[in-house]
Order: sequence, then structure tokens, then C-alpha cells
Amino acid sequence: MDRLLTGLQPSGALTIGNYAGGISQIVNYQKDYETFLFVPDMHAITVPQDPEALHRNIINAIAMYIACGVDPDLENMHIYIQSENLYHANLSWIFECHTPHGDLTRMHQFKAKSALHETFTEGLVTYPDLMAADILLYDAKYVPTGIDQKQHVELARNLAIRFNNRYGEIFRVPEPMIPTIGAKIRDLQNPEQKMSKSTTNPKASVFLSDTEKQIRKKIMSAVTDSDGVIKFDEENKPGVSNLLTIYSVFSGCSIEDAVAKFEGGGYGDLKKGVADAVVEKLMPVQEEYNKVIESGRINEILDEGREFSNKIAAEKYEQVRKAVGFGRI
Ligand code: ATP
Ligand code: MG
Repeated sequence: MDRLLTGLQPSGALTIGNYAGGISQIVNYQKDYETFLFVPDMHAITVPQDPEALHRNIINAIAMYIACGVDPDLENMHIYIQSENLYHANLSWIFECHTPHGDLTRMHQFKAKSALHETFTEGLVTYPDLMAADILLYDAKYVPTGIDQKQHVELARNLAIRFNNRYGEIFRVPEPMIPTIGAKIRDLQNPEQKMSKSTTNPKASVFLSDTEKQIRKKIMSAVTDSDGVIKFDEENKPGVSNLLTIYSVFSGCSIEDAVAKFEGGGYGDLKKGVADAVVEKLMPVQEEYNKVIESGRINEILDEGREFSNKIAAEKYEQVRKAVGFGRI
């Protein structure tokens, strides 16, 4: 079975963007691939985190994946925490020593996130090397992701190709798996930007754990434009196009059908329709989430994931260690 691999940082509560770009793809393809789904807590500390909140967010993220439909009982599903597998950091270091600095500082995410803070850490620069290690340790064929991470997957591809050329065939060259609809859910208050879970403006993102009231309020106050026409045009009408996209992701209909349903009406009706679709999907997810938390199963799922991921990663790391000349033959 080919492998899928993806991770969602525990840098806050998961958003509907994370659902569209990451979780929903895993749910759709989990029966067709061996899936490695991990919580990248090491990535999260590239920007400051509160330790207590980080612990909590890790467990909440796992519960939310499952509540959204990820099936931990599938034999081919492996759910684990990045920091519980030391091979990620080891391989990341080797990759750091094979990546030109300029390749890292020209990454879109580095530029965007470093601009938000007065100073930034070296970890924010080397983030894509750690991400390459996350992926390449497991010979993943596809990496389900939103458009924002495409550049990082490309860096992982380049590293794999360069490494293979220099040291022999070691890594499988991965490909991003980007959804046709929902690859970039936009910030509700600034539709030029993508929605993010670590936003400082709570009105900008809809979290999967938001109450019905919060969801409706945020969507009803989403920024649109002043021409009053409902059509899908991401460049000139990013706010309206975003609402149509969210509707499409959460109702399961195509963008064309979403436009046909709302065109000719006002923005208020569009927003109400979008809010209804999101609420209808998320309320049962939240009920399921509470059940997962109460089930007490998360530790057992993570123990299994840790064992399995360490076993696979150890084999790959051993190949790399020998190839680069570390330790003893
Ligand atoms: P942060 O603000 O901490 O970076 P984030 O919301 O960007 O959080 P990540 O953990 O960086 O989330 O990314 C998790 C997954 O969600 C990735 O596959 C990413 O491509 C996807 N993703 C993130 N934001 C969006 C979005 N707005 N639309 C679609 N996919 C998204
Ligand atoms: Mg992100």
C-alpha cells in the first residue's frame, strides 16, 4: 500500500482551513493508503508556545482528527506525536547540513511568520528541513496539504532527489496532494491572507471547536466587497469566493452549484447559507469529539503510533546514517 503522510501543528485549535486542506483529505483516502498522521509539536515551538496549552492542544488535535472521521481502528492508520520519535530531529539535522541557507529564507512561510515577530528563531528558518525529515523518513508517496505548504513539500522533493543522486537511492520522492476545492481557505477579516489557527484576531478564523453562536457571528461578519454580486472570482472577489468555497467544502457541492444556489441574492443570504452548512457539519463532529475525549483511548492510540513510527523511522535513519558516514560501519 502506498503511504500518505500529514501533520497539523498544535499551535492552536484547528480551523476549517485545516479541515479543508488536511483532515478531510485523510478521511477521504484513509482506506486506500497506509496513513501516517502526526502532531508536529516540534514545529509548533518555532514560534513561542505556552507549554500547558501545547500539551492540551496535542491531545485535543488527536481527538478532533478522530471526531472528523479519521479511523484509528484501521490497521493501516498510524497516529503519533512528532517529538516522541527522535529520528525526526536527527534526520532534520542532516538535512540542515544539505540545504543552502538561501533556500530556507526565501520560503513564503518563513517570510510571513518572521515578519510577525520582532525577532525569530533559527527553528523558524530550518522548519522545512524538519518537515522534509517528517515526510522522507516514511517513504510517503503523497502529502495531503493546503496550498500554503506546497513550497515546503517541493523542498522535501528536492532534498530527496539531491540526496539520492549523491548517496544512492534512499528516499522516495513525495508529491503534495492538494484538494481541488479548499486548498486555501481565506481569513474572514482579511481575505487576501489564508486562514490560520495561530491568528491573533479570533474573528478571522472559524475553529472546529467554536460554538454555533460563534460560527454564525464570525461568518456573518466576514469581509466581502461592495459590488453586491455573487460570483466566483478569487482574484477580484476573494471574500465572496472564500464564502462560496467554504460552502462547497462543508455542503459537499461543487463551486458551480454553490454559485447557482446563491447568485442573484444578497451577501446576507450567502453568509447565512454558509453558516448553516458549517454548523450542520460541525455540531455532530463536536459531539463525537466529546465522546473521544471521554473514551480515554487517546493514550493507547498514541502508544501504538509511537511504536510503529519509531520502527519505520529507525530503518530509514540507519540507511541514511551509513550513507553519510556517521558512526561505525
Ligand atoms: P499556523 O498558523 O500555526 O501555521 P495553520 O492553520 O497554518 O497554523 P498548519 O498546522 O500550519 O496550520 O497546517 C496544517 C495543515 O492545514 C497543512 O496541511 C496546511 O496546508 C493546511 N492549511 C492550513 N491553513 C489552511 C487554509 N487556510 N486552507 C487550507 N488548508 C490549510
Ligand atoms: Mg501554518
